[in-house]
Amino acid sequence: MLDYKFVVVGSGFWGSTIAERIASVLDEDVLVIEKRGHIGGNCYSEVCHQTGIEYHKYGTHIFHTSNRDVWDYINSFSPFNAYRHQVLATWNGAVYQMPINLETINAFYKVNLRPYEVDAFLKKEVQKSDLPNVDSLENYSISKVGRPLYEAFIKGYTWKQWGISPQKIPATVVKRLPFRTNYNESYYESRWQGIPETGYGAIFKKMLSHGRIRVLVNTDFFDIRNDLPENARIFYSGPVDRLLDFRYGKLEWRSLKFEQEIKNVSDFQGTSVMNYTEAEIPFNRIHEWKHLHPERSVFSGDHTLIAREYSLNGTGQEPFYPINDKKNQALVEKYQHEATLFPNITIGGRFGEYKYYDMHQTIANALTVFNTMKHGE
Ligand code: UDP
Repeated sequence: MLDYKFVVVGSGFWGSTIAERIASVLDEDVLVIEKRGHIGGNCYSEVCHQTGIEYHKYGTHIFHTSNRDVWDYINSFSPFNAYRHQVLATWNGAVYQMPINLETINAFYKVNLRPYEVDAFLKKEVQKSDLPNVDSLENYSISKVGRPLYEAFIKGYTWKQWGISPQKIPATVVKRLPFRTNYNESYYESRWQGIPETGYGAIFKKMLSHGRIRVLVNTDFFDIRNDLPENARIFYSGPVDRLLDFRYGKLEWRSLKFEQEIKNVSDFQGTSVMNYTEAEIPFNRIHEWKHLHPERSVFSGDHTLIAREYSLNGTGQEPFYPINDKKNQALVEKYQHEATLFPNITIGGRFGEYKYYDMHQTIANALTVFNTMKHGE
């Protein structure tokens, strides 16, 4: 019998935040159950033994937030470096700024527009397309930048990432990216950003290091569910369809595969993330991990570690991205409704809610869930 009043399923940021708060604030024991062999979910990082370079096992994760409570909370586990995320895109043998900004537009059209000239310039392109609505990622993007820029930088990349037509993807997916008519090259608009100096792997270790927390890795919640007390308060961040035995069918996910390689040069691509936006190139981006930690001594070493990122159908793979189409949205709503029948289970995180959350959003949500529980609501 695992005699715990509080049980957390999954040790990503949502689960780890809730477990940490229960232990530190409520001074209660909490059991964390993690299916994988490591904590941290898809935000986990570790150091490559051969190169000494820390890499993000599930793709580059930049911490960014405008929420002061979240920033203060996460900084209490590690100082953050001054890294500012900038992304570049290779298209047709040349490198461009991404998200699309004035530099992208000027380089692409070989012009020298000023910010106040961009709208009128792009309007001519936008007007060439018939856009009855801007609900889809494709129509929305064309309405913003016109078809040529859309086809160069968005269409191929989006097809590769999602495996479905950009006409079937909601505009919200691309609204994550700003579109700018100035030279601002920052990927995010958040007030605070950086990479934990100690690394993500270390941050999770610290969050879960409290003496009141017990972590079981390589453990499937569904294998030990019957060993838990019937009235245990469960915080579940696994996929919601599994919780309900897939009774209405499986939710679909996109997954990623990383092909890691050591290069015997100090700097391979000059930046942490290079997108490849053409459909003909089979991978979506190349990550070069050392650029995330310019403050570390390995930064100047004479070799580097890179990873090519490929998108895959998520069936039988680790889930990464919920597929935000109508079919999956309808299914998740059914599951979420049914899950309310378990009053002792709270569901959260990207997998649990089937939402395209960033790290800061899952932490904010976990802090709210914890505070609501603490106040007995
Ligand atoms: N996107 C694109 N071209 C790019 C980068 C992004 O078309 O070079 C689109 C694509 O549809 C993607 C969405 O913008 O799914 C959101 O990109 P983001 O970088 O936020 O995705 P993540 O980092 O979460 O994979």
